[in-house]
Amino acid sequence: MTPFLEVRDLHVSFDTDDGVVRAVDGLSFTLERGRTLGIVGESGSGKTVTGLAILGLHDRRRATVTGEIRLHGQDLVGLSEAELNRLRGSAMAMVFQDALTALSPYYSVGHQIAEGYRLHNQATKKQARQRAIDLLGRVGIPRPAERVDSYPHEFSGGMRQRAMIAIALACDPELLIADEPTTALDVTVQAQILDLLADLQAEFNSAIVLVTHDLGVVSQVADDVLVMYAGRAAERGPTRAVLTRPGHPYTWGLLSSVPRLTTAIDSDLLAIRGTPPSLIDLPRGCAFRPRCDYAPLVPDDRCATEIPALTPALGTVAACHLRSGERERIVVERLLPL
Ligand code: SF4
Repeated sequence: MTPFLEVRDLHVSFDTDDGVVRAVDGLSFTLERGRTLGIVGESGSGKTVTGLAILGLHDRRRATVTGEIRLHGQDLVGLSEAELNRLRGSAMAMVFQDALTALSPYYSVGHQIAEGYRLHNQATKKQARQRAIDLLGRVGIPRPAERVDSYPHEFSGGMRQRAMIAIALACDPELLIADEPTTALDVTVQAQILDLLADLQAEFNSAIVLVTHDLGVVSQVADDVLVMYAGRAAERGPTRAVLTRPGHPYTWGLLSSVPRLTTAIDSDLLAIRGTPPSLIDLPRGCAFRPRCDYAPLVPDDRCATEIPALTPALGTVAACHLRSGERERIVVERLLPL
């Protein structure tokens, strides 16, 4: 059966004055309707560029995109702006991180929701306004008929984020890309927005790609997790497996960096040492090697010479040369006590 969304061997690179930035380097994954994929990684891991590339919203003048992004089997790579515009909003939509900058300050919130609906549905102004009111109510804005004419600056941060979600949902998209949708919000509002996304997904059976650096967010809403490092997939698998028995040293580092109630107050969190590599000049072999404590355990210096492929590791697939017995021992001894 054709997957709903299939990304295959995706490469996204940017020409800069300093050289070619390989932001996404051979990424593949699939996603079905009704499922949420969390893409996690540090800044510069390629997670946001992946989300933008799916919608064709990357900087098209400077970027080179190769590989396949298939929605219902249709390859989106190479579609014209006009063809992509027909799909954006109706088949796929994006919720951006910072609602204050993503929303136009010059138009009412209701107008911004109605605009996309009118464009894709040839609706009258009255119908589109009613759609905006319905959606504002659906995303939990109180008294939506009164707030539909409000401007973004008249909304709180949480309400603006809800309005962004309403805009994205205006045409019932099958695919929603949410890029750090809760980063700017306090914890209570964050939980409400995540609940809202889960409710809406259940209602519309949409597929969600959730781009985030926050493993807590992923644990709440994602069915599957893709961990990215330096533009490549480091690990992929069901959320529970990735969070409890991961197979990649980078994921071990991410998990070890998360404070837990059981972490002793004076114990050091095991932050990943060093910084991500330059995407213009990646290290040979495994890109994580300069920061990895486990490379010496791999025979023949393979980490320095051979890019690891994704292979089965515990309950996930991980791009790492560690042998399975070694990996199991490290997880049991070092990670499970956390
Ligand atoms: Fe570390 Fe080697 Fe595995 Fe890369 S391949 S994560 S350097 S052990």
